[in-house]
Amino acid sequence: MNASSTGVRATQLRYSLVIPIFNEEAVLPLLIRRIVALLDVLDAPAEAIFVDDGSTDTSVIYLRGMVAEEPRFRLIELSRNFGHQIAITAGMDAAAGEAVVVMDADLQDPPEVVLQLVEKWKEGYEIVYARRMRREGETWFKRLTASIFYRLMEKMTSVDIPRDVGDFRLIGRKALDTFKQMPERNRFVRGMFGWMGFKQTAVSFERPARAAGETKYPFWKMLRLAVHGVIGFSEKPLRMALWAGLAISGVAALLGLFAVASWAFSFGVVQGWTSTVVIVSFLSGINLFMTGIVGLYVGGIHSEIKRRPLYVIDRLTGFEDVLRAEVDNRNTEATLSASRDRRFG
Ligand code: UDP
Ligand code: MG
Repeated sequence: MNASSTGVRATQLRYSLVIPIFNEEAVLPLLIRRIVALLDVLDAPAEAIFVDDGSTDTSVIYLRGMVAEEPRFRLIELSRNFGHQIAITAGMDAAAGEAVVVMDADLQDPPEVVLQLVEKWKEGYEIVYARRMRREGETWFKRLTASIFYRLMEKMTSVDIPRDVGDFRLIGRKALDTFKQMPERNRFVRGMFGWMGFKQTAVSFERPARAAGETKYPFWKMLRLAVHGVIGFSEKPLRMALWAGLAISGVAALLGLFAVASWAFSFGVVQGWTSTVVIVSFLSGINLFMTGIVGLYVGGIHSEIKRRPLYVIDRLTGFEDVLRAEVDNRNTEATLSASRDRRFG
């Protein structure tokens, strides 16, 4: 067979699955089986894009072997660990389908649910997210912090970020093209989809426990994600600083009046150092806290302004037919590099 036959295939691609992988060797064999089963039952040609986020175990070796065997698989190897949000961005940038589904590798996002997402997409929804009804096999600590996280996001941000929704979702071409135009470095992907509007809906599912291996989202990573979410989508912390400052000035003014009055009417000299120490340490605490908040925003500006690429690709496997197909359609070598730039630049 030649390039033109693969060309037909690539242009007909309807679904892309994007799956980030970070040290998932324990779950990969099972995942691959479930993904192949899903690709087989989807009603149109589909691809599965695995994004290796700098794994240090045998995940990459295994994936390379799989991609060599299965023409519907593709592999993007990032040059180091860029984090989950960037990894799924790299996958979405490379996706060629009309509808793109992002899902975790650990089978906590069951592949069968994708069929329900697709149904909703066919009804005309541009973004279909999967909402977690119940979470199994997660510690009470994880559930508690997750619940605080979703409620905090609701209170603090100005865009609609649906509750109990992670990054398991289907997006249509229009949403994907909009997403690609959003250049921010500090990514909170679910907020970005909330922000862009379009017809959105949810499908509920019960979230099973991780199929194998351990969570790659320890507490500090979740905290960082939460901070990115709030800072990226809300100016409330800055306003909070303003109001706290005003309130404290008010209290200080009253205290001043009290001091003057107690001096004027000499009902007792201002007493001991306890009150002084309390006030000073309280105020310096508030001061540091507020400076820290401002620092987060300034840090955000700093990292945006450097304009570095979001991620660095070390190696691509399994994309040959897509690139060749694009050339086939236009028939020049120039388009090859241009399309490569467009898809991965
Ligand atoms: N992941 C990643 N890069 C990271 C951390 C995680 O690509 O730095 C991937 C991981 O391999 C998995 C998904 O992101 O496919 C979700 O991670 P995990 O299941 O560990 O998170 P949890 O479900 O515990 O929140
Ligand atoms: Mg998981």
